[in-house]
Amino acid sequence: MAAGQRVDLGNLDRAGLEALVVSLGHRPFHARQLYQWIWKRGETDIDRMTDLGLELRSALADKATIHTPEVATRQHSEDGTVKLVLRLEDGRQIEAVFIPDTPAQTFCISTQVGCAMGCAFCLTGKMGLVRHLTAGEIAGQVRALARELDMWHTPFNIVLMGMGEPLHNYDETMRALRMLADAHGLALSPKRVTLSTVGLVPLLDRLAAEPLMPNLAISLHATTEQQRSALVPPTKKYPLQDVLDACRRFPLSKRSRITFEYVLLDGVNDTPEDARRLARILSGIKGKVNLIPLNAAAGIPFDRPPDARVDRFAAILAEKRILVSVRKSRGRDIRAACGQLIVEGQGRRSPAQQFAEAL
Ligand code: SF4
Repeated sequence: MAAGQRVDLGNLDRAGLEALVVSLGHRPFHARQLYQWIWKRGETDIDRMTDLGLELRSALADKATIHTPEVATRQHSEDGTVKLVLRLEDGRQIEAVFIPDTPAQTFCISTQVGCAMGCAFCLTGKMGLVRHLTAGEIAGQVRALARELDMWHTPFNIVLMGMGEPLHNYDETMRALRMLADAHGLALSPKRVTLSTVGLVPLLDRLAAEPLMPNLAISLHATTEQQRSALVPPTKKYPLQDVLDACRRFPLSKRSRITFEYVLLDGVNDTPEDARRLARILSGIKGKVNLIPLNAAAGIPFDRPPDARVDRFAAILAEKRILVSVRKSRGRDIRAACGQLIVEGQGRRSPAQQFAEAL
């Protein structure tokens, strides 16, 4: 932090708040009170934290601030989905989405501005990576959504499926999940969180050893190495077979399964042979398949398959005793659906360049 710059309390975990409070000459338990104000009530004005003494409030007001991503635009879909474009402190923008009744209420949040992975069917991938988000910016989207939708007291799930590849921003993503899980804040159980990744194998193995482990979703989308490296470029570095092996050794609790997301692209990966091959490669993995008929959009060179082909694909998987669901597309009218999140004009390097530099 540069001299004179204020500490962002929204980017500190409880231990960080404790260290700050102690450095200001106050007792560590005040950090718990601060945490509750920020993460349970969404307060951003230190002056209104009335159970903190005046002296501490004034010391904090001098040195600190609480950034919450600011709502730049808010769009409502006719199906109840709400998309927020959020402005960060440096003016960059990200998107966070509320999806009602799936069957729980779900917040879909971002982990990066843009994304380096460059998946061929994804608008976010077209942006390239602009920058990683901090833990405060990742978790802060939850505060922004809870405040905007008045959901501080309503249970919700979180999916890390917005802009970005969460494992590419591993440390800040995991720090954000720990901040959200803190018992003095939102106390969000990792069972309510799903992390979706293309499968960066060494980081999948690292995730497997985390004490707070979210549910895992793998963006699979293809059944052969060749097909996958065309659709999901990181596969060139982490072949399909290695990703599946990492899934096989991933520790799962008794009732949990890995979700395999499979976007169906008309005439590309949606044939009966693809479905049979998918069932074959998943054999021996405790998983389920979530089929996502493409949300076609300008700039994406693929089409959505006809419903009959989607149904046939699902039926073949079911015949092979694979648990399968077809994702109902939400928020398509406001471009909030899967793979449609893009905030234009933010400056970028190409996805391939970003990926190569980052790993
Ligand atoms: S699908 Fe996910 S990982 Fe792939 S480019 Fe889009 S945001 Fe990145």
